[in-house]
Order: sequence, then C-alpha cells, then structure tokens
Amino acid sequence: MPATSLDQIVSLCKRRGFVFPGSDIYGGLANTWDYGPLGAELKRRVKNHWWRTFVHRRPDMVGLDAAILMNPKTWEASGHVGSFTDPLVDCKKCKERFRGDKLLEEKLGTAAAAVLKLDQIQPMLMAEKIPCPKCGSVEWTAAKKFNLMFKTQQGVVEGEGEDIFLRPETAQGIFVNFKNILDTMRLRLPFGVAQIGKAFRNEITPGNFTFRTREFEQMEIEYFVEPGKEAASFEEWKDTVWNWFLSLGISKERLRIREHGKDELSFYSSRTIDIEYLFPWGWGELFGLANRADYDLSQHEKFSGQDLKYTDPDDATKKFLPFVVEPSFGCDRSVLTFLIEAYTEETLPNGEARTVMKFAPELAPVDIAILPLSKKEHLVAKAKELYNRIVQETDLVCDFDVTGSIGKRYRRQDEIGTPRAVTVDFGTLGEDEKQGGKDTVTIRDRDTLKQERLSIDALVASLKQ
Ligand code: ATP
Repeated sequence: MPATSLDQIVSLCKRRGFVFPGSDIYGGLANTWDYGPLGAELKRRVKNHWWRTFVHRRPDMVGLDAAILMNPKTWEASGHVGSFTDPLVDCKKCKERFRGDKLLEEKLGTAAAAVLKLDQIQPMLMAEKIPCPKCGSVEWTAAKKFNLMFKTQQGVVEGEGEDIFLRPETAQGIFVNFKNILDTMRLRLPFGVAQIGKAFRNEITPGNFTFRTREFEQMEIEYFVEPGKEAASFEEWKDTVWNWFLSLGISKERLRIREHGKDELSFYSSRTIDIEYLFPWGWGELFGLANRADYDLSQHEKFSGQDLKYTDPDDATKKFLPFVVEPSFGCDRSVLTFLIEAYTEETLPNGEARTVMKFAPELAPVDIAILPLSKKEHLVAKAKELYNRIVQETDLVCDFDVTGSIGKRYRRQDEIGTPRAVTVDFGTLGEDEKQGGKDTVTIRDRDTLKQERLSIDALVASLKQ
C-alpha cells in the first residue's frame, strides 16, 4: 500500500535526507526543495535509467544538453511569448492569487476546466461558489492571462542588458539544434533526440511538495518521423512509456491515461494524452505525450530564416519537415511518484511495525549496506575491508553504518530502501562458530527479511554480475 498522505512522504524525506526545504536555515523560500544526499542519488538513478533505456539502448536515439538561456526569438517562434499563460484570478478579500482553472478542476473535472475561456472563469467560480482556499471568501476578480516565463537580463550593465527568459521547457533546445544534429550524426528517420534538464515556470499556484514547483527538471524526447507515420509512432511511445513506469514498480491500478478532448488540443496537435498517477490528493499528470506535427520546425524555419528540412538520403529530391511526437516526462514528478509508490508501512510477523521504502532495486539510492555487529575495532576493520572491496570491485553504492543497535540500523536501511544489508559478526572473524563460519556474512533481504549466510567471496562475486 503506497503512501496515503503527502505528509508521510514529506516527513520521511526530511528525516532520512531525501528532500529538504530549500534555503532551510533562512526560513526557506516558498515551494523550493533541495534534494539531500539520498534524494540526489535517487534522482540520479531515475535519470540514468531513463537515459540508458531511451538513449543508450536504442539505435534510433541520440542525446543533447542545450543551454537554459536561449535567444529570445526562440520563444517568439515557439509561441511561448504570446500564449504560454495560465488564467490568474485574485481573491478580492485577502488578495491571494490562484489559477482559476485549477480551482474549478475538482467541481468540473480536469478536461472541462482546461477548456474554459478566460471570460468564463470568474462567472463559473461564482456560480459554483468556489471559496478562496486561503480565506474562504467567494469574491473573485475577472481572470487575466499570466505569462509563466521567468524573465531575466543578460549583460553586466543594469538596464542595458537584453531581456531573456529561463527556458520553460527543454524541448525547444532540441528543435533549434535539429539542423546541427542532422549535419553531424548521420541519422535517418525515424529518430529521436533526448534531453534532461532544468525548466522554469512562474507557476501561479505551486504546491503539493515537488509536484508543482517553479524550478523543475524535465526528461524530454522529440521523436522525428516521416509525415503520415506519426499516429503509429504515438501508439508505440504510449506503450513504451507506460511499460517503463510499470517496470520500475508503479502499480497499474494507480496509473491511467487521459486523452485530451478536441477543444483542449493545441491547433497543431492531432492528439495529446497524459499519463496520470493517483497521488495522495487525487489524479495528477505525470507524463505528457503530444503529436506536434511540424509546428515547431516550421516556426523556427520562419523565424530564423534557416532551412530545417530533412533530405531523404536515398532520394535527394525528397525534402520535407519531419513530424514530431513528443514524450515529455517530469523528472521531479517521477521521483515523487517513485517515493509515494515505494512507501510501505507494515507489521512484521513478530508484531513489530516498520516503514520500508520498496524501491525497484535499479532506483534504490543505496544498493547494499555493510553493518558490523558491534563497534569492536577488529570487527569494524573486517567490515571496512568488505566495504572497500565492494566499492572498488563493483559499480554499487554501498553504505557503511556502525552507529546504534543492529535493529535500529536495519530500520534505517528499510526506511531508505536499501535492498540488501550485510552483517559482519564474530563468525566472520572466525571467533564464534555459532554465528557462522569464518569469512562468511549474513545478507538480509529488505522485502522478505530472509537471511542468508554466504562467503564473502561468493557475495562479492554475485554483486559483480
Ligand atoms: P500541468 O498541467 O501539471 O501544469 P503541463 O501540461 O503544463 O503540466 P507539460 O508542459 O506537458 O506540463 O510538461 C511536461 C511534464 O513536465 C509534465 O508532465 C510534468 O511531469 C512536468 N512539469 C510541468 N510543470 C511542472 C512543474 N511546475 N513542476 C514540476 N513538474 C512539472
């Protein structure tokens, strides 16, 4: 049973070093979060697994790492300057500001709220008697468009610099490099370009921990196909991504696909879906898949004056702009989903209660823990020897913990989701046969709690596989 309240996750994350409030010692900065030592490992694993799956294991994919700061023309071409907006409403009483469509989502459903026209939002909030989440008043201003892009200045002289934006999505970095990639990588359609990186949106109502923040990380793919082949590619990506989440332990029952309705689609898109996850507060978007046709490339052709067409390598007279299918993952939302899904409270057969993070082994921030049974110097030295062998001879992340009773240390490893804990005892030293033979150790499995006695050599050999 995954976490049922966000508080369970927020508190475990703080207690165990996954996620801390941002700028904590200064009282924080609203809705910013810092990944602690274990959160940083978890997030890195999610990104590595994603990159391995979607770039290294596929001959049709390459990677990119574009700059966050881009020529401002990019955002004119992409449409972000003109229309990357959310409907902002103010509570007339307490002056707090909210996203009008989100306030109406619970009453109307996500799809219906998403297609409301700007001038329909205030009357609808009044008609549905939606109260201000802060003060409870039902007096709303008319909704106005609020552009979500963060503006900043480039240049050292204040006032003379050029206004530029922090990118609100990573995707445009791929489109503006399309020609460079074509010219250098000898690719044939269909092929995709993947990128992981930070994006920034001045969200009106951030919240729900790391679910909606103003600075976040995306893992995006632009998949280029010959026009006419986009529908089949869309289906393939839908299944591939769905299965990726399942393979990493997300349960089918807590995932669903939400198909965007006709009036919700951008004018250039023939199809968009979201994969939603059942978060403790309800269903929310985890991933988006959009058919973007040749909209972005044709806009960038127009605004840059450059020819971005693809030439068929077998027929130089066939020149065209490829169509694009865009699988777009939120990295932080994926990490949050893996945290929620892994969270388990259970009662053991001996009546003891424990909290255990049942991460898929590929994602667990620590692979294996070495726990000397006591603080006796020669025992710790033997355990350190094993630790050193593991970190030198394998690629695993290994934790070494001597502090506290063995029970306490097991509980900590459970709470950080370490799949295996190894106890080094007096048997290992050849000093107590009852504990086990010389140079053998006990390996405890996080989920089954089964304990197995293995020789150190056999253990290290199994870890190398
Ligand atoms: P939402 O409807 O929740 O605002 P969106 O449809 O605007 O999301 P996209 O533009 O499709 O989101 O971005 C792709 C992915 O990036 C989303 O599926 C989500 O996982 C992630 N994402 C978007 N905005 C944020 C945010 N403010 N904080 C964290 N992750 C985000």
